[in-house]
Amino acid sequence: MKYELVSGLETHVELATNTKIFCSCTTEFGGDQNTHCCPICIGLPGTLPKLNQKVVDYAIMAGLATNCEISPISKMDRKNYCYPDLPKAYQISQYDMPLCKNGYIELSNGRKIGITRIHIEEDAGKLVHQRGNTYVDYNRGGVPLIEIVSEPDIRSVEEAREYVEKLQMIMRYIGVSDCKMQEGSLRCDVNISLRPVGQKEFGTRTEIKNMNSFTFMEKAMKYEISRQADLLDSGQPVVQETLRYIVEEDRTESMRGKEDANDYRYFREPDLVTIEVPAEKVEKFRAALPELPDPKRHRYIEQLGLPEPDANLLVKYRKVAEFFEAASDGVKNPKNVANCIIGQIFRRVENEAQKEAFEISIPPEYLRDLVLLLDSGKIKMNLLKSTLEKMLDSGKPASEFISENDLAGIDPDTLKTLCTQALEQNPNAVSDYLGGKEKALKSLLGHVMKNSRGRADAMEAEQLLIALIRS
Ligand code: ADP
Ligand code: MG
Ligand code: ZN
Repeated sequence: MKYELVSGLETHVELATNTKIFCSCTTEFGGDQNTHCCPICIGLPGTLPKLNQKVVDYAIMAGLATNCEISPISKMDRKNYCYPDLPKAYQISQYDMPLCKNGYIELSNGRKIGITRIHIEEDAGKLVHQRGNTYVDYNRGGVPLIEIVSEPDIRSVEEAREYVEKLQMIMRYIGVSDCKMQEGSLRCDVNISLRPVGQKEFGTRTEIKNMNSFTFMEKAMKYEISRQADLLDSGQPVVQETLRYIVEEDRTESMRGKEDANDYRYFREPDLVTIEVPAEKVEKFRAALPELPDPKRHRYIEQLGLPEPDANLLVKYRKVAEFFEAASDGVKNPKNVANCIIGQIFRRVENEAQKEAFEISIPPEYLRDLVLLLDSGKIKMNLLKSTLEKMLDSGKPASEFISENDLAGIDPDTLKTLCTQALEQNPNAVSDYLGGKEKALKSLLGHVMKNSRGRADAMEAEQLLIALIRS
């Protein structure tokens, strides 16, 4: 039978606060085991939590950036469960009064994926399995998280991926998290069920825990979809349970039966006061949000005239977008700036982390000044390109490499002389060209460009070469 996927994601995002959610320990990743800890975050009796205001602020920003309503009143609750990574035997989270609710993320196909809620909570410690023993590292315990719960609106593996990519991009833009999946600062639980195409009711779901890479998330989803389809085809029920994905074997495996909210015996955290967020505060945060990736993309396409693929590449990382905007300020055609960034500059910042940090040797003003020379016709595209390489190598402005002489351009007589020389010095290329080898022309052109030190206009030179050969 043909089935339709129904999926909802629970995404945990570690917040980039300097200190933990209920104490002043550092949130820094790594460090020797159990060195980023204090009596509060290892849950010693008699200690009291104090809510870090920055956590609430960041969660409000996350909510606003994903079109949520911000609750004027919310509270923290205890979620009780017994596991060694949780020293208090309960996690302080939010149950029935989350800070944010009713938001959405819009995908590129126009579908909106609802966000049921965003709540704040503390992370647990980490179990380390070594030499047959299990050790526990509480450095991560008490690191603030937001959990972003989506509606079961996702209908394909591709949509799931794009949803998470968009969340990641937005959270990075507003600066609340670095969202590094490989370091666990963004991880997803993926809920999956199938229903026969055309059926309205949802099927029974399973939940795959802790996906920390896009590739594994896609693989795990595909595996689980086909596992459930096989069960349904053979008339067997899907059991509601919590699964783990085993990377080495590309399959899912049962971790435990699914808990009910009842199993957690939620109750209000008595040691923390109600969280109040007045409307004025919400509006203050809304006004302070930066332009988000989607509106930015639209603006690049509609107002700056960039092709969509260019706009996509430029908005993906906030620092790249900021560089582009500063560099195209006042230039005639921002596409020229986009080309320099996507072409020559991206060749030097290849991976995701490098693009995220976007540390390059020149400030955006240097690129703008260079492109302005092109705008005003003082230099040609090829000189722009070679100069940009030198600028990137050295960190110096264009004026270091472009002389008065270059700016004067090349007069028609000199160009003609250079072309004639190229023909005389390369008789073989000329006869190759006459014999039908188009490529030979490029090598002749290369000589002209080189001898003009990049000042000649390639099109002009090419036409002149052809004319001279034919004459
Ligand atoms: P819990 O907190 O017990 O895991 P929730 O009802 O809060 O359960 O749902 C958790 C996630 O599971 C949500 O993202 C929701 O969209 C998703 N979900 C709920 N029902 C289904 C279903 N039948 N199929 C797929 N996903 C579902
Ligand atoms: Mg869940
Ligand atoms: Zn602490």
